[in-house]
Amino acid sequence: MEVKPKIAISSCLVGQEVRFDGGHKHFRYATESLATYFDFVPLCPEVAIGLGIPRPTIRLIKGENDTTEAVSNADRTIRYTEALSAYGRKTAPALHEVSGYILKKDSPSCGMARVKVYQNNDGPPDRTGVGIYANEIMSAHPNLPIEEEGRLNDTRLRENFLERVFLYHRWLQLMEGGVDSNALVKFHTVQKFAILAHDEPAYRELGRIVAGVSTSDIEARCMDYISLLMRAMKVLTTPKKHANVLMHIMGFFKESLAAEDKAELLRLIDAHREGLVPVIVPITLVNYFRKRHPSAYIDGQTYLEPHPPELMLRNML
Ligand code: SF4
Repeated sequence: MEVKPKIAISSCLVGQEVRFDGGHKHFRYATESLATYFDFVPLCPEVAIGLGIPRPTIRLIKGENDTTEAVSNADRTIRYTEALSAYGRKTAPALHEVSGYILKKDSPSCGMARVKVYQNNDGPPDRTGVGIYANEIMSAHPNLPIEEEGRLNDTRLRENFLERVFLYHRWLQLMEGGVDSNALVKFHTVQKFAILAHDEPAYRELGRIVAGVSTSDIEARCMDYISLLMRAMKVLTTPKKHANVLMHIMGFFKESLAAEDKAELLRLIDAHREGLVPVIVPITLVNYFRKRHPSAYIDGQTYLEPHPPELMLRNML
């Protein structure tokens, strides 16, 4: 891939000492494993709105009319809600080039979900909040893959997030070059098995969107397409879904494979379905067979290599 995808990230996660206590929350997986494949765009909303380092902490509280307010813990009459929202609204348009965002969990500014919200100033909190800045970014970019660093320690969520980031990057590149109906059909064709591995109903609906596209409604169709595609790709894959896709792919080889090769591939697909081997095992065999029996349709499928193999994202699935 010529242009590295850009990922926006909470500054404290790349080791910048911007937290309230002058520290950081270095997320080493990002800087040590992902940095080879992505350019990071670090952003700290609290520093950007002029808060110092160190500074009093912020908490979310329930405001009037069920609103959520960000207040200073040192002086609860000091509110940062509008400043953080305004910074989010100002930053959002500049993020049209990023393909993903990694946010700091639990932060009243950056947290994407389950942030503590205090019902009154001293009552017990519940975990229903969204960081004020993060909320603006997520509203402005509903299709952008966004995750918190904590969730990225889960191998399934990590693989899912990075698959979506690479996919969204390809979409941004497609949009940059100007899209016509042929380009959209081509884009969709190579994603087919990848989509099928996530969400079969969406796979069928996306096919209908692409089939009905015409020059006059290309923009509206693209919006429908990418919004459904990104929602579909958020649905997690399972061994059963992978086995289904791999059986489809095997159908393309079945005439050219020797009986024992076919039997071995079937055995590995079944072993994955039963949870005995990770999905990378049958996929490796498929990749070997497709080199011996090239098929333009199969070779182009992003399903077979949705992210760099060196990241080893499928080794634990
Ligand atoms: S969580 Fe967000 S606001 Fe807090 S230090 Fe990190 S980047 Fe800054």
